[in-house]
Amino acid sequence: MARAACSSVVTAMALLPSKSLLCRNQLLFSGNSKFVGVLTLQKRCFSSKVSMSLKAGIVGLPNVGKSTLFNAVVENGKAQAANFPFCTIEPNVGIVAVPDSRLQVLSKLSGSQKTVPASIEFVDIAGLVKGASQGEGLGNKFLSHIREVDSILQVVRCFEDNDIIHVNGKVDPKSDIDVINLELIFCDLDQIGKRIERLKKGKAKDSQSKVKEEAEKSALERIQEALLEGKPARSVALSDLEMEVVKHLCLLTMKPMIYVANVAETDLAEPEKNAYVEEVKGLSSDLQSGHVVVSAQVESELTELPLEERTEYLNSLGVSESGLGNLIRATYSLLGLQTYFTSGEKETRAWTIHAGMTAPQAAGVIHSDFEKGFIRAETVAYEDFVTAGSIAAAREKGLLRSEGKEYIVKEGDVMLFRFNV
Ligand code: GDP
Repeated sequence: MARAACSSVVTAMALLPSKSLLCRNQLLFSGNSKFVGVLTLQKRCFSSKVSMSLKAGIVGLPNVGKSTLFNAVVENGKAQAANFPFCTIEPNVGIVAVPDSRLQVLSKLSGSQKTVPASIEFVDIAGLVKGASQGEGLGNKFLSHIREVDSILQVVRCFEDNDIIHVNGKVDPKSDIDVINLELIFCDLDQIGKRIERLKKGKAKDSQSKVKEEAEKSALERIQEALLEGKPARSVALSDLEMEVVKHLCLLTMKPMIYVANVAETDLAEPEKNAYVEEVKGLSSDLQSGHVVVSAQVESELTELPLEERTEYLNSLGVSESGLGNLIRATYSLLGLQTYFTSGEKETRAWTIHAGMTAPQAAGVIHSDFEKGFIRAETVAYEDFVTAGSIAAAREKGLLRSEGKEYIVKEGDVMLFRFNV
């Protein structure tokens, strides 16, 4: 089943017309869910490029607050970005804007007609219960959904409420985390076992393919060993080549995981006083994962309030911002992502790239032609742009730099690409 999910994408990719990246990304916003799936999966499993929309899957045992968090995040996203084509594509998939206060500042300075934030796609993945890998609950259906995401957000119940049944009878973050980990590990073990058997037959015809085959076998054997010890695949140190050759398997425990400790509103201001949260924190570091504290309930209540009353409500709980910002920042940091901007009269826009990308690679996220024909990038740091007041003023003050092909883009750079096609 797992392999079928991946190979059908290869077929679907072959059927995709070879349009430019920009055209395909436009499909992303057309509301055509089929293409959304193909586009994102293609990027996730087969290329290191960043798609315009990051995809984060929300998993967790029943009654931990997944749907409450998902609905709140989508509603909040809609309210923050009422003018943008962000939407709920399917009942369990929503694209929301990445909150970034710098965007409005740039847009105002540039007198832009349009402001386009970066986006993040949340998927509420139901059906992950004990025994799911053996067909319990929705069985293996959740698998194909998890395979498509860039990161997994596991909601862990850290709030007590006698009216809300806990699936195992009591609030117990360690047990919840273990249950889900085991299901993901079982799925990966099953897939790796089958793949190793095939690799043992050694089908490679030339020396280069043989090297790759050997690298894959060696990596998978080490990953198998780790999984059998209850450790995720991401805990295994792999070389670049090994990483490349195992990518096609889209292993579930290779994906970055963020534990979302869902606490009562009274715990938001001082989450460290909640012993469950401390437990989640410890486990997340043992499992090479991130963690973030939210109150799904609060997020849900926030969506009912007018925008101007939200900060006041948050302040009354002893916090300064909603959990969504934290969640997105944690995802960005765990995935090693950062933002750069383009800003002009027509539009101001945020783009998501991997940290360490060069200027041509960053340009390629907008359009593959920008990367191919890259000449140079006129670049100014966000703070310098704001101080100068405009691109023209930044140029006059010598704050606008002309950067070449080797330039590593920095967080918050405002860029104008010169290219040749
Ligand atoms: P799911 O099965 O994981 O999707 O869980 P739901 O989002 O449907 O939540 C299950 C129940 O827990 C609902 O009645 C929610 O209102 C409630 N719930 C979710 N988050 C919180 C929270 O932070 N505090 C409290 N007290 N209840 C919550």
